[in-house]
Amino acid sequence: MINLRLSGSGGKPLVMLCLGCHSDDIEIGCGGTILRLIEEQPNCRFHWAVFSAIGTRRAEAQRAAELFAGSERLELLLKEFRDGFMPFVGSDIKAAFEEMKNTISPDIIFTHNGRDAHQDHRLLSELTWNTFRNHLILEYEIPKYDGDLGQPNLFVPLEKEIYEKKVRYLMDAFRTQSPKHWFTEETFLALMRLRGIECVAPSGYAEAFYCRKLVV
Ligand SMILES: [Zn+2]
Repeated sequence: MINLRLSGSGGKPLVMLCLGCHSDDIEIGCGGTILRLIEEQPNCRFHWAVFSAIGTRRAEAQRAAELFAGSERLELLLKEFRDGFMPFVGSDIKAAFEEMKNTISPDIIFTHNGRDAHQDHRLLSELTWNTFRNHLILEYEIPKYDGDLGQPNLFVPLEKEIYEKKVRYLMDAFRTQSPKHWFTEETFLALMRLRGIECVAPSGYAEAFYCRKLVV
């Protein structure tokens, strides 16, 4: 299978918009891809928006974004919407998207999967598509209790150094999540291993995304 490369338009540095409801969503969903993009294109830049980053989790979100993207590449937008209640304050979240539409022009957008079982995740995915109408949007996946994993169609193979770094950063940056039964190294490695099988990744590991629309 041939590889399509992600590169900026007209030789300009690639600009990413990373959208996540909660501290740790972006990093779990596409942390390895972000690390790989930086390795391949050190001049790339990130707009990084977390919609529920409150108290300790705000500090964790900030530190993780700096770990993964590097503070020099980063424009961080941290909001304080209540976890689990986003569909019920949809107009405020929609307003935040309208503001982003007027100020950000990304090449690639990473967002939640539209069929995610978490109500906050689904809302953000829907608003991503409503707001950014002529953009490459890649929807990442988050493993969870509800069992909503599907069949993604875009794969990013990750070298050993990258996928190990992703897991290390996750465990290091999100200490408040460690009591959760699913927040373990094994969970993150297992999902990347399965996606690596599906795309025949040389290292055996990959991240995967849902890409609804692609222009070549
Ligand atoms: Zn989440």
